[in-house]
Amino acid sequence: MKITDKFLILMMLSSPLLTSCHRGGKRRFVRRTAFIMGTVINVDVPAESAWAADTAIEAFRLVDSLMSPLKDSSDLSRINGNAGRWVRVSPLTAECIRYALQIGELSGGAFDITAGALVHLWHFDTEKGWVEPSKSSIDSASKFVDFRKIEVNDDSVRIGRGQRIDLGGIAKGYAIDLAVERLKRLGIRNALIDAGGDIYALGNGPHGKWRIGIRDPFNRGNIMGILALSDKSVCTSGDYERFIKVNGVRYSHIFDPRTGWPVRGVVSVTVIGPISTMSDGLATAVFVLGPKKGLKLINSLDGYETMIVTESDTLFSPGFRNYLVSGEF
Ligand code: ADP
Ligand code: MG
Repeated sequence: MKITDKFLILMMLSSPLLTSCHRGGKRRFVRRTAFIMGTVINVDVPAESAWAADTAIEAFRLVDSLMSPLKDSSDLSRINGNAGRWVRVSPLTAECIRYALQIGELSGGAFDITAGALVHLWHFDTEKGWVEPSKSSIDSASKFVDFRKIEVNDDSVRIGRGQRIDLGGIAKGYAIDLAVERLKRLGIRNALIDAGGDIYALGNGPHGKWRIGIRDPFNRGNIMGILALSDKSVCTSGDYERFIKVNGVRYSHIFDPRTGWPVRGVVSVTVIGPISTMSDGLATAVFVLGPKKGLKLINSLDGYETMIVTESDTLFSPGFRNYLVSGEF
């Protein structure tokens, strides 16, 4: 989670104001902004439905209260504080964990929420400064990384003794889906939800499909391309904002559960698809898998597309370009 928007930004909707209007097209949109889950949340809804935006913002507050590692009373903290024992949680937390287990299976364990033990060692889940742990502490924490030991039974969850889970790779996507569901239930058909660059484009924007700019991860002032999306999510995992540098080596906040160490070599992964929770988790999974296995995973899934940027290359799944309306690739 991050303070500013990341790889993907909204080209047309760039006002930092609390509320902004977008004129000029058939539709006029207003924006509500909040800072939740360590990131800036922007919700754009049609001006005549401005009242509905707060419902979307509330979805983020709710998911944060359930899944934040920073809150002692969250479901996540209670699960971690009771490792080895069943813990009753909100149906939302149970559902999000079920998604996480599904992505764990699909990715052969590249996505693993029990990497929480590693995240915690480096203090990536705290507001304290990040640290580089000793090799021996990484080796011992790695022994507890195995999502297959997590059990979910209705609304109860049990993790293995010594395990710790972290939902940072998926909770934002889950909150976006919840917000979209709530907006739809209120009859809102066009809206844009942007949680620090993880986005859901509902229906259309002021001038047709929502236009979303892709930032160049090597030169963040640059726009590499523009996506046109409708009823799609787009999520990005990258190492350009949350990382620490020790003796000149950059360590990202995404861990390879097989080694216990932060992933290196991949710069950013963007995933487009129908469900934000999946796109968010899959972007993290592909980041761990790397280009070859990552593309294979995405190509095996209906409706999902990816763009993978490495130090030397930019790779696309076959359908990604169908969403690009302009770009220098
Ligand atoms: P962000 O949107 O905050 O950049 P990502 O979606 O890229 O987050 O996910 C990164 C977060 O996922 C990390 O901060 C950590 O909480 C968690 N995480 C790190 N490695 C893994 C992994 N291998 N599997 C699942 N979650 C992970
Ligand atoms: Mg993710």
